[in-house]
Amino acid sequence: MRFLAADELLGRRTGEQGNLVAARYIAEQFRKLGVVPVPGNGANNSTYFQSVPFEKMGSNGSGEIIADAEIMKSGEDWILMNGEAMSIKAPIVYASFGLENAAKNQDDYKDLDVKGKIVLVESGTAETQTPREIINTSNEKRKIAMDKGAVAIIELFNAPIPWNIVTKSFGGEKLGLAETEGAATKSIPHAWVNGKEAKYARALRAVKEVEFKTAGRKSQIVGSYNVVGYIPGSDPKLKEEYVLLSAHYDHVGVGKQGGQPFTAEDSIFNGARDNAFGTVALLTAAEALSKNPPKRSVLIVALTGEEVGLLGSKYYAAHPLLPLNKCIFNMNSDGAGYNDTTIVSVMGLERTGARAEIEMACKAFGFGVFADPSPEQGLFDRSDNVNFAKEGIPAPTFTPGFKEFNGDIMKNYHQVSDNPETIDFNYLLKFSQAYTYATRLIADRKVAPQWSVGDKYEAAGKKLYGK
Ligand SMILES: [Zn+2]
Repeated sequence: MRFLAADELLGRRTGEQGNLVAARYIAEQFRKLGVVPVPGNGANNSTYFQSVPFEKMGSNGSGEIIADAEIMKSGEDWILMNGEAMSIKAPIVYASFGLENAAKNQDDYKDLDVKGKIVLVESGTAETQTPREIINTSNEKRKIAMDKGAVAIIELFNAPIPWNIVTKSFGGEKLGLAETEGAATKSIPHAWVNGKEAKYARALRAVKEVEFKTAGRKSQIVGSYNVVGYIPGSDPKLKEEYVLLSAHYDHVGVGKQGGQPFTAEDSIFNGARDNAFGTVALLTAAEALSKNPPKRSVLIVALTGEEVGLLGSKYYAAHPLLPLNKCIFNMNSDGAGYNDTTIVSVMGLERTGARAEIEMACKAFGFGVFADPSPEQGLFDRSDNVNFAKEGIPAPTFTPGFKEFNGDIMKNYHQVSDNPETIDFNYLLKFSQAYTYATRLIADRKVAPQWSVGDKYEAAGKKLYGK
């Protein structure tokens, strides 16, 4: 805890030095504790690292879009979602929603020639203007425009949310999974213009030519790692199956990266609770289970990229180092914090078929278990376990104790105050032990846990395990 959440690790932001040091630390802890690399990972089974390539896009820079008398400023009236620096005056062509969908008989580019021109489109679809739908269709719109030879795309953003939230959420530095490990993807400039300003929409639709000047958003490939260790099971047959332990070790970084208040004296988002806490539980399990292995094998994955959209687990689930259908259970540990040290909270306790083992393990360390403290927050689907659940693996998240999202949780959640000095180490120890013991009980079970009947991931489970 004191190392992972130390100031020197600078908030462990994915792809940055402190994040890489944390990954190295975890790998060397695995080595020291007798946890081995996954058979087949690296030459001579030599590495604990699974390389995860990210693409980092810089924050929105300066620029102007000029349509006749209307001058729209970057960062105020529009933000650049992607693209290189450019300064151009070109014809503008309106292409409705900018989508092509043969199944729906939709071709918004019918009879349009956009080669060398700027394309103007509406956000979302004719049916929906939810932020989610706009985000889901936005990249596709850019790709279609690029394929057709357009030099830029302007999208009139029309979701019913305040524009300043849009600029705040999308204007900063962005990390995504890289499509390839090599070079960053090339893109034409793609602007979201505040569609609520009727005069802008009107001007853009009325003019024949538009001036588009932007400093661009620079893309670069940055690397990070999932750190993966393996403990072979003790039962000659059951060892073919395994329990997957996961916890993310990344956090949000320093200063502006944190997105929350900071001072000159303390600008480091140490992420002690979120999620050095769970990482300590993972290392505790590594130590105890390698000394005295359970019947089934245990795969331990310290995940990167959680804070930037559950991306380390998304990458792992798409590139597993052991077959997922041999994984009987995922015990994830992640947390925002705690305000009740008499309990452990488990998102998905009642859904994932191992309630008895989890309760027994917690009881052994004096804890009660609290299931899904605030179902309305949808916490089950907000941590890395969801990427394994989607594959069909029963996957709860084991979380430090809280019954409500208030008080001490809000005080420290994603704040600079979330540092090791404010951690209850006695609670951390017992929490980690309970996590380890629950894992042991599950890995020793006669039959694998199953999703509850009717659970939204039950069908995925049947598909994965072929039952
Ligand atoms: Zn977090």
